[in-house]
Amino acid sequence: MYPTKPYVVLIWLDCVAGDVFVDMYKRGRLQNLSEFFSEGVFIENVVSCFPTVSESVEGGVISGFFSGETNMVGERYFSRKLQAVRHYKFNAKAKLDFNPRLRSRTIDAIVGRSVAMGRIIDTSGENIVDLKALKYEREGSLKIVGRRIEVASKIVYEKRPRLLFFTISGDHVSHVYGRNGEAVKNLIKEFDKEFPVLADSLNNVYGEGKYLLFIFSDHGSANVSRHLDLPSLLSEHGFKPASTELLVREDYIDSAALSNGRRMGLLYFAHPEYGWRRRPGYKVLRSYRFRGRNIDLLGLFAQQEGVEHVFAKYDQKSVIVVSKEGEGLIQYDPASNRYKYSVLRGSDPLKYGLEPRWMSEEEWLKATLEHEYPDAVVQVYSMFKSRNCGDIVLNASSSWDFWEPWDISYPGLKAAHGGLSRDEMMTFILAKVPGIKGAEVEYARIIDIYATIATCYNARDLMAGSHAVERIISPPKTSGG
Ligand SMILES: [Zn+2]
Repeated sequence: MYPTKPYVVLIWLDCVAGDVFVDMYKRGRLQNLSEFFSEGVFIENVVSCFPTVSESVEGGVISGFFSGETNMVGERYFSRKLQAVRHYKFNAKAKLDFNPRLRSRTIDAIVGRSVAMGRIIDTSGENIVDLKALKYEREGSLKIVGRRIEVASKIVYEKRPRLLFFTISGDHVSHVYGRNGEAVKNLIKEFDKEFPVLADSLNNVYGEGKYLLFIFSDHGSANVSRHLDLPSLLSEHGFKPASTELLVREDYIDSAALSNGRRMGLLYFAHPEYGWRRRPGYKVLRSYRFRGRNIDLLGLFAQQEGVEHVFAKYDQKSVIVVSKEGEGLIQYDPASNRYKYSVLRGSDPLKYGLEPRWMSEEEWLKATLEHEYPDAVVQVYSMFKSRNCGDIVLNASSSWDFWEPWDISYPGLKAAHGGLSRDEMMTFILAKVPGIKGAEVEYARIIDIYATIATCYNARDLMAGSHAVERIISPPKTSGG
């Protein structure tokens, strides 16, 4: 049993690519952080949550579950019930969609008295809105860093929260100037420069070695140059998709297409016979009755330039993966809690080249960590557990995204995220855990942060059934099953 219930501080560097941060850290460019974490833990290989957008990662970090289980499948989704696109920035609230069964097991519930800034799923005791910081964020100004650190320090002194959780966003600068552009590197350097101000506040108020601190990024991004407009594509094929630019309930629509982070797509189709009341199953999707023809919707999207993977539910316990050159099947066995992935025809869509066999989540994580699509078997499977998930999920090809022309909130778009590629999925964790000096942790999932917090609060029972694994205080069992 872990002896203390330390204060907890989470610093979320939004959209900072793992390799960019790791490179700067290892080259000694981040002196203040290196010094502070010299007796801490630096995990270089951390797998994010699919889709690689803040909503799904936040759901994972606060609960230890994947996007399909937290019901956080992106920043927007199509509601079959309302027949309209729902967007967390505008007409929907993430807190209301977050799986109600997980509400009592969030880190806010475990740690207590939490204060947050920049959160989307607002399960914290108090959520502070900093309008000046939001302005800096939208302008891509470096001043965001100093401002966030200044306000966070003030919160530590004045409110002394048990849990402080705030974001510093590198999202805008990554999108506009590229995933490893000077702008995001300057943001990281600025964070290193300002960090001692916060460290001093934490040491003064909580006491040195009395708090648990995590610094991490939610996801990376992939450079993009070509765009595929999914709603237009549906229109070209004669469908009448839901509008994504005007959030309204429409009289007659037969489909919906939208992207999250712009590199992951969700597609929804009315059942040819029963309309929106029933989801089209695998057979229907493969032979969709439309205007006197039968269309293989999975094949149609897989053949589209710009689409790397098409995912759909195959049956209750499996998900199909379709690419231009082949098909694969992800199967789950609830009795043993293991997954199997096999190539059904052609070449392996996930490019794993592994012999098909039943493996545990931990084994899949380890086996796919170095591959182009890390942890896809377990995470793609889980995504379909959400009622908000599309009937079809798309992963964009390298250098492509699903940007819609009206969506011009940036002066340019050099990088996007949401997809499954390494550039988007790999991130890092810097951790300082009371009583632990310099543990070596080879790899982790970003949601494992949940497990370490739960362990420090003697709440390990809450980890049961989740996917979070404690890797810092007590190393995990490596055996499968
Ligand atoms: Zn973004």
